[in-house]
Amino acid sequence: MAPTRTALVTGAGSERGIGRETTRHLAAAGFAVAVLDIDGEAAERTAALVTEEHGVPALGVAADVTDASSVDAAVRAVEESSLPPVAALVNNAGITRPTRFLDIDEAEWDLVFRVNVTGTYLVTKRVLPGMLDRGYGRIVNLSSVSAERGGGVFGGSHYSAAKAAVLGLTRALAREVGPQGVVVNAVAPGLIDTDITGGALTGDRKEKLVADIPVGRNGRTDDVAALVTFLCGEAVGYVTGATFDVNGGSHIA
Ligand code: NAD
Repeated sequence: MAPTRTALVTGAGSERGIGRETTRHLAAAGFAVAVLDIDGEAAERTAALVTEEHGVPALGVAADVTDASSVDAAVRAVEESSLPPVAALVNNAGITRPTRFLDIDEAEWDLVFRVNVTGTYLVTKRVLPGMLDRGYGRIVNLSSVSAERGGGVFGGSHYSAAKAAVLGLTRALAREVGPQGVVVNAVAPGLIDTDITGGALTGDRKEKLVADIPVGRNGRTDDVAALVTFLCGEAVGYVTGATFDVNGGSHIA
């Protein structure tokens, strides 16, 4: 059966990333898929892959989530395409830096906030009106265990602060739009094996981090993708403003 709903995932270009794996799970769950990534060719590759693997319509578009006009043009391209309406939004685009507090300059502080926080704001602001018009929407924001336990994985204090801001945004927006059929939740992954650390997390440091994880292994992208896909589904209409941990027990609240 042809999909009747589209899931839009930001930052799903990265080959080994959480976003790309999430688009696969969403496609398997019957969604058409829209991919926005600053790397437009990578976004197109993800779209081609999910169509090839799952036979669903998919579109990859270049977009810088920190730039309102870029986001507007990309979402317009999705809306004007043959994809069905966007029913689920996954704000996954994110960056991190391992810098210690006193070494973070303002440019790096701003960049980490612009991608992780302002990006989530801008894409949500552009996609939400359509969801409200249709009286239905699922929004999932990628936070991090770093927001909950004050770093201790890889990112610096700017990353922890930005991902904590994502939790505040998730909760406040959930309150605002709940009456109109849109639920908003956050997912907080622990250490997941992707390229976000740029290969900088290796050796003893990685081994020590893994040794402290109760389930005894690194997280995989499919661990996160399965949870995000569940939160994009119809069954979660009474779940909103919540944070879902997927960290192998590395943070048990
Ligand atoms: P990744 O680096 O593999 O992928 C991030 C993607 O975001 C890339 O495709 C990149 O091109 C895109 N991107 C970066 N800046 C962008 C911008 N300005 N506009 C549009 N796209 C942009 O990262 P990942 O590990 O898959 O992380 C995905 C999300 O999960 C991020 O929000 C990250 O903070 C969060 N997260 C990851 C981990 C982990 O251990 N990997 C843990 C906790 C949270």
